[in-house]
Amino acid sequence: MNSLDQDHLAENIIWREMLAFTDTFRTFYSPHVVHAVYTELSQERGRSEFELSHKEPQVVENSWIDVTLTFAVKDGELVGRCTAVVSLVQVDGMWKIWMVRSWLESYEGHGHPDEPKSGHDNSNIQSEDHIYDAIIAGGGQSGLGAAGRCKALGVDYILFDNRPSIAKQIGAGYKDWAFKHAINVQEATSVDSASWDGANQLWTVSTSGKNGDQKWRCKNFVLSIGTGHKTPSRPAWASEHEVKRSGFKGTLIHSADYHNANDFAGKRGVVIGTANTGHDIAEDMANLGMDTTMVQRGKTWVIPGQFLVYAHQPDYNLDKPVAEADREQITQPLKVLSELANKHIWAGIRANPKLWDDLEAAGFKTERYGQLFNHLYGRFGGHYIDIGNCARIIKWEVKMKPEVVKELTENGLLFEDGSTLDADLIVLCTGFEHDFRKDAQGIVGHEIAAQMDDFWGLDDEGEIKGYAKLAGHPHLFYFGGEARIARFYSRFVALQLQKLKLGWPIQPYRGP
Ligand SMILES: Cc1cc2nc3c(=O)[nH]c(=O)nc-3n(C[C@H](O)[C@H](O)[C@H](O)COP(=O)(O)OP(=O)(O)OC[C@H]3O[C@@H](n4cnc5c(N)ncnc54)[C@H](O)[C@@H]3O)c2cc1C
Repeated sequence: MNSLDQDHLAENIIWREMLAFTDTFRTFYSPHVVHAVYTELSQERGRSEFELSHKEPQVVENSWIDVTLTFAVKDGELVGRCTAVVSLVQVDGMWKIWMVRSWLESYEGHGHPDEPKSGHDNSNIQSEDHIYDAIIAGGGQSGLGAAGRCKALGVDYILFDNRPSIAKQIGAGYKDWAFKHAINVQEATSVDSASWDGANQLWTVSTSGKNGDQKWRCKNFVLSIGTGHKTPSRPAWASEHEVKRSGFKGTLIHSADYHNANDFAGKRGVVIGTANTGHDIAEDMANLGMDTTMVQRGKTWVIPGQFLVYAHQPDYNLDKPVAEADREQITQPLKVLSELANKHIWAGIRANPKLWDDLEAAGFKTERYGQLFNHLYGRFGGHYIDIGNCARIIKWEVKMKPEVVKELTENGLLFEDGSTLDADLIVLCTGFEHDFRKDAQGIVGHEIAAQMDDFWGLDDEGEIKGYAKLAGHPHLFYFGGEARIARFYSRFVALQLQKLKLGWPIQPYRGP
């Protein structure tokens, strides 16, 4: 790596870069591109010599060897302390690099995102005159993660969450987290709007809630208000107009409004949709002794929950610190992670075909070899991680109706094939609209939302769009998502905020 030549790179070389060289998240492919970008940025960033880290080289998947290195880059007056993992394979008797991962760990002399400032001084709630380095809207796992890392890095922030009590929502673990990281939070407070004053380079953030209407000022704004699960998506036949027209005598709701079906015990329940939410609600109905039917339109990929446990166990287990496991997993290019997940999960499916055979015999249309990462990062769902409902379907305790709904009727549903299904309760498990910008627009307004990048889904390089980086505005970030990436990327949100606080702009590499 200290004198990298294009010949050292395997034909399928892939380089995942996270803030060390590029000030953003990029994945580069092909020996020519990787070599050219690496050479250019090594020079531009005054990269130091690489040194072997204390970590022993590791054989991975019986296929390659990972060697962990440390290095430094210069960024203005900042010195970025970085890690790289270089993966080596033998090609025609020569060791070649087929994968490189590089990421920023910390800025020298400015703390480390993994080293919390503990204590209970979580009361830095200032007056309107105070200018925070950052305001974080939303205290789910993402907002809380970013907040903890900000505290560790000396970024002066405040977090608002509109729920009355985060602890009640998240559970006991929250208290430990809040204490460990001295989270500066005002709960029961909704962030209503944020406007950008370009002349003074400041956000004015308006909140309402337990302390009435308040205004706050900050240099940077982080939206971590969820990942676009706010607007329920309803099929055309279940629009308000159609429900009224049909004269349906039962109850029809979207899963977003479902809490339980206790009032319908022993009655007829219909679930529209066969992904995770649909199965969970069908199981709930069946547990209440309801006559339960799931309506399925297309094929659904099903994976037993246990398969995911097996797939993750080599990294996530009681013997390995979570921070180390995250480094090993989350720094991998998503394309590689995806191939590895497919390899392990599909092997499990091939070896145990009975579950899928039995589901099909019970009328459930299965997609046998689905792509986990497409579901998680592309479609935002559409699969079922089986935690019990498959057994109910196989035993016909939950019945299947694999037909397309034509319309709602007085008594239930009419299908395209002319058949009908009567129902007392219909729950639409048809997902949500996923344009995060619509949610953001409610806060930052139309003009700024229009310049924001897409959020979620994969770009051409395989990076998550808009994720944990500047969101089309030089002082706006948006952030959210599942536990592991929320936990790991929170360091990068905080490091970028710290860099801005220290007076250095974020300049994402746009080449080649
Ligand atoms: C059915 C379902 C099952 C899932 N299962 C899993 C799973 O098993 N594992 C997993 O990792 N992920 C799962 N996910 C994804 C899950 O939603 C995310 O992992 C997690 O909730 C994302 O955390 P977050 O902090 O980004 O957003 P959220 O948890 O949605 O937190 C956002 C917070 O912001 C608050 N907020 C929103 N607007 C405002 C405002 N204007 N002002 C102040 N506060 C505001 C909200 O009240 C909330 O507290 C699931 C999602 C769904 C829908």
